[in-house]
Amino acid sequence: MKILAKYEFDELVNKWIAEDPREVVGATHDGTKFVFDDIDDAEELRLDYDLTMLSPKKYFFPQRERLVQYDTNENDYAMVQDWSEESRIIVGIHPYDLVAIEQLDDIFIDAQGDEPYRRKRENSVLIGVTMQSVSEHSFAASMGTARTETGYDLLVTELEDTYAIEIGSEKGSGLLEEAPTKEASLEEVEAVEEQKAAVESKFEKGIEFSPKQLPSLLKEGYDAVEVWDEYADGCLSCGTCNVVCPTCYCFNVDVVDYMTDEVGETRRRWDGCLLEEFAAVAGGENFREERVARHRHRLMRKGNYLYERFGDIACVGCGRCTKQCVADVADPSEIYNELWRSVNA
Ligand code: SF4
Ligand code: SF4
Repeated sequence: MKILAKYEFDELVNKWIAEDPREVVGATHDGTKFVFDDIDDAEELRLDYDLTMLSPKKYFFPQRERLVQYDTNENDYAMVQDWSEESRIIVGIHPYDLVAIEQLDDIFIDAQGDEPYRRKRENSVLIGVTMQSVSEHSFAASMGTARTETGYDLLVTELEDTYAIEIGSEKGSGLLEEAPTKEASLEEVEAVEEQKAAVESKFEKGIEFSPKQLPSLLKEGYDAVEVWDEYADGCLSCGTCNVVCPTCYCFNVDVVDYMTDEVGETRRRWDGCLLEEFAAVAGGENFREERVARHRHRLMRKGNYLYERFGDIACVGCGRCTKQCVADVADPSEIYNELWRSVNA
């Protein structure tokens, strides 16, 4: 573990901004909310944020993305973009978002071999931060994601006048090469541990059982109609809970012809299982036409289906869906707790 004075850390970030070919982005405040955005100066960083609007997922899997451009006259179907040029140093990622990115890596890189995602992801650097503030909507501690030992290139923890920096990879180590770091003392290592433990005790919300029990709870509670109905009744099918989620990865692909019909492109855009047309197929059938079926599907997918495929609970407890749902019916911790009580009644 390394130690840097706070002003030295700021100087280091400004050096990256000035000299590193990668774009430097980080957690900032845009006047109304916390967001990940470009930064021109380390002073713009807000490492004390509680929850950003979107997670850094947007840098690897953007909301809209052109994949292929084609020209049938030239018989030329070519990738139009070199995604490896889209490389970033991302500063200030909370542990639950680091965990979410690890899950997306498993899906996009290992399972799907998705080149646009892989190239951007592998050329970027993730700088995590130990949480200082906890959102009232978050239940990450109960999901075991308020801290993480993996998924970062560097992990920064604020101490009094310094930052303690844990190194998670060679990429991370490379960023510190010319910085005036010193080795952390035993007291400083203990202070970091205390800081991480203190954060976990700040969460007001949580699931009332171990996340390991979630997959079997969902299997058992699949037919607990009263619970699913209670929440689905108010749902507006707006899809916001999907859009803000750091682990959601569904997308739709559009083939867009230009005026000539001979030249065009393929684009992808985020999709969401709460949207009415998500499960519509050719012939006009919709295999999740009922709102309650879509609502249940989202919760089943987070806590059971993806666990069975990839071994991870696909809800990291960030609380974004809870915060953004205008109908106040998206909170997974509330629904899972209700299901737990119903199944164990
Ligand atoms: S649960 Fe809330 S955010 Fe999600 S689709 Fe329904 S109304 Fe929209
Ligand atoms: S389901 Fe909600 S709380 Fe869970 S990771 Fe997605 S946005 Fe966060």
